[in-house]
Amino acid sequence: MDNCIFCKIRDEIINSKKYYEDDDFFVIADISPKAKKHYLMIPKNHYKLLEDQIENDIKVLGKMLNTLPKISKQLGIEGGYRIIINQGENGGQEVPHLHIHVLGGEKLKNF
Ligand code: AMP
Ligand code: ZN
Repeated sequence: MDNCIFCKIRDEIINSKKYYEDDDFFVIADISPKAKKHYLMIPKNHYKLLEDQIENDIKVLGKMLNTLPKISKQLGIEGGYRIIINQGENGGQEVPHLHIHVLGGEKLKNF
């Protein structure tokens, strides 16, 4: 996707430290953190919504969740965390490339 910031970070057209990367997804710090620790897990395939998944990405999403406990430890997130996937306009999605927010490093407010 030509004008997608996360595709550009994936392709290293824009620099952003990748805290984790494999063939399927990568992890960066959110540029505007909403908690003491705020990371984004981003599948390498570009699609906006869960329903738009390409190449059976549900396996990638499963792998992301399965790898998250290990990655969160590596990132020094202790005592739990919150994950959020904003979907579409009502969900407050700003970047149209699916991503999982990982928030932690402090006691988060309840919804
Ligand atoms: P969402 O509203 O769920 O689409 O979340 C998009 C997130 O991407 C926001 O929390 C932004 O702060 C974050 N973001 C936007 N541009 C960048 C960037 N260049 N590097 C890291 N995070 C970014
Ligand atoms: Zn993209």
